[in-house]
Amino acid sequence: MEISTNFLSKSKPQIPHFLILPWLASGHLIPATDIAHLLAEHNASVTILTTPVNAARIKPTIDRFNAASAGDISLVSLNFPATEFGLPEGCENIDLLPSFPLVYNFYNTTKLFGQQVARYIHEQVPHVSCIIGGMGYVWVPDMARKLGVPCFIFHGFGSFALYCWEILHKTKAHEIPDSDAELFNIPGLPFEFKIARKELPMHFQQSSKEIAEEMRNSEVSVDGILVNSFEQLEPGYAGLLQKNSGKKVFTIGPVSLCNTTRLDMEERGNKSTVDSDQCIEWLNSKKSNSVVYVCFGSTGNFAPKQFKELGLGLLASPWPSVWVINSIEKLPDEMLIWLRENFEEKSSSKILLIKGWAPQIAILSHPSVGGFVTHCGWNSTLESVAAGVPIVAWPLYSEQFLNVKLIVDVLKIGVSVGVGEAMAWRGENEEDARVKKEDVVRAIEKLMNGDEERRRVSELKEKAKLALEKGGSSFLNLENLIQFGAPTI
Ligand code: UDP
Repeated sequence: MEISTNFLSKSKPQIPHFLILPWLASGHLIPATDIAHLLAEHNASVTILTTPVNAARIKPTIDRFNAASAGDISLVSLNFPATEFGLPEGCENIDLLPSFPLVYNFYNTTKLFGQQVARYIHEQVPHVSCIIGGMGYVWVPDMARKLGVPCFIFHGFGSFALYCWEILHKTKAHEIPDSDAELFNIPGLPFEFKIARKELPMHFQQSSKEIAEEMRNSEVSVDGILVNSFEQLEPGYAGLLQKNSGKKVFTIGPVSLCNTTRLDMEERGNKSTVDSDQCIEWLNSKKSNSVVYVCFGSTGNFAPKQFKELGLGLLASPWPSVWVINSIEKLPDEMLIWLRENFEEKSSSKILLIKGWAPQIAILSHPSVGGFVTHCGWNSTLESVAAGVPIVAWPLYSEQFLNVKLIVDVLKIGVSVGVGEAMAWRGENEEDARVKKEDVVRAIEKLMNGDEERRRVSELKEKAKLALEKGGSSFLNLENLIQFGAPTI
């Protein structure tokens, strides 16, 4: 266990000290580390408390930050009792779950972990002045209350999705249709937005009612909501969220922009499985705005048939692409052979296949990259905006269908690949390909040949940068957050 001397100090803090407890998923751990970086840049003290596997993933980033800036981010890791609820040893992140049903075991294990965190903090006579807890940690508000400090929730979603989320909790509009597949309108929006219940996050699914209720009870008892977004991207929605939830809402993003050195951009959230120099060299050999980057986040994956249709679409498309497949070890041998023969051997100059973890923000910010085929996870969406890259939207599950509405219809910075409905987690038990080769080719062609999406996202890229600069909306919100989290002595 690594322990920060700062964290153990028994004296009361003179400056705000934020304790960040990131939910154990890459899409949360990565932006939470960036949030720590931004808070420290704004002169707050920060401790990130997580598990050994997750701590190891972010330690290089934190060490670099502390060394470069004499910053004040401490990293503490406590044992995660994975085997207590039947998880494999070391299964400390959602992206390490062997199969979806184990998500419930994982959730229960995080509650045991919470007891350990509470004990640890109690024993250490902590001097934190504010806690930022990840969405699934239902025990955080109670812990904060016992410590007498304010508490924020970080869902990892955008303001638009969170506002829809709030409206659904209040109106229960998703419970009205007779079936999970029937479309209904989300009320409270300035436009019609028809969606089916099964395209909503698991919190709105019948099957996870008990957990959803626990999460909602926890969520309504926090003091505020942190959102990785910026005002100009989702105008008015943070305000609507604040009004409807009755909580302070601070938009402080895009947090990925705090990574400015090449190493920080290349080693983010996990160790890249591709040689970064080779990857950049490959991109350097391509024309400006000609490459399509294809990645479905930290858990997005498909069954073999869908992978094949996607791969065939990329081969048939006239544009080169970087294609990331993250859980390669789950693919059958026959598929691995197909990938090797058709991509690594025959077409490596047209398609760069990355098996594992890609240096995503380094790739997105390369001038050759002109489009992003993404599942529209919120981090990937924001990272695309921050890099000025338009999107082919291919949502899989969670809040991604809400994000697509924003991307395609509201902001008009992307085109839809035409997914009908939500997919099972990692494509488990999915036999057929929903998106055909022709759909892939058509969507990429539409995006890469179009000017409007590119123009709009380039404008947003500039606004994203300004938001974090001195006097920008996210900059000021960070300052306000620090005021809010300052010690009351
Ligand atoms: N990511 C990455 N390399 C990969 C896959 C993902 O760096 O090969 C990062 C990506 O930049 C983003 C996060 O992982 O910050 C994924 O978050 P997102 O919200 O997009 O999707 P999730 O994984 O939560 O579904």
